[in-house]
Amino acid sequence: MEIYDCHLHTTYSKDGKSTLDEMCGRALALGMHAITVTDHNEPDTPGFPAYEHIRQSVAAAKRKNEELGGRLQVYAGVELADQFIGGQDPAPYYEMDLDCILGSIHSTKMYSAFFPDHTFGSDLLQSAQKADMDFLKKFVEAYYSELRKTAEKADVDVIAHLTFPLRYINGRANRGLDIAEFYPLIDQVLAAVVKTGKALEVNTSGMATDWKHFMPDEDILKRYYALGGRFVTTGSDAHRAENLGVGIPEAIHMLQKIGFTHGSYFVKRKRFEYQF
Ligand SMILES: [Zn+2]
Ligand SMILES: [Zn+2]
Repeated sequence: MEIYDCHLHTTYSKDGKSTLDEMCGRALALGMHAITVTDHNEPDTPGFPAYEHIRQSVAAAKRKNEELGGRLQVYAGVELADQFIGGQDPAPYYEMDLDCILGSIHSTKMYSAFFPDHTFGSDLLQSAQKADMDFLKKFVEAYYSELRKTAEKADVDVIAHLTFPLRYINGRANRGLDIAEFYPLIDQVLAAVVKTGKALEVNTSGMATDWKHFMPDEDILKRYYALGGRFVTTGSDAHRAENLGVGIPEAIHMLQKIGFTHGSYFVKRKRFEYQF
């Protein structure tokens, strides 16, 4: 089985714990075929904007790819978050020589954009623990309306971690939110992914925690398939080398069971496929 890990962070991300060298060492030890380095465009550090980090991340990935001479493909990407809700100006990223752009919604910016008066701080985990269910449902609704906008309008290649709020609401805070309630909204996002020819990520980061879920899970991937979606990427979203690739073989088995035959990856922002 060829393993492509299309979502990972290095120390060029503020919360990244492993260097690019350590990530590549791990990928080689695991016999992976390719990795895509997708450091965050956030948060900004005063005097050292995130795009400077990304510029360095991209340059380092390209250097590493040359150095490894085909033993491991190292692609250069970025995880571009919160594009339409007070995120960074994305313009500098489009001037970089990127292989792949992940589009995602992270939560802190959403809080200030939609819930300026909420009393839980800007931390999704804290809110997931303390907020009442009605608030959390409103939050998830707002999340999907933003993600839909990203799928419809953003110039990105992949929609990342589609069920991201669940990692906190159900994973860490164990609130038992039933995502099925949001299927009509989720279907709109999935339809936009299909229509615009983007790929949908199966994010496996939950498999490295006690919360053993994919983002999204099998039910939603079946809905994507039924809507005509065939382009899927796999990504561990590892922030440390030990989590690289975790859950990807299991994700591929699940995808095959649904009917998917190929995985996608991006080079110079063009989609390529490999057979599962
Ligand atoms: Zn993310
Ligand atoms: Zn990420």
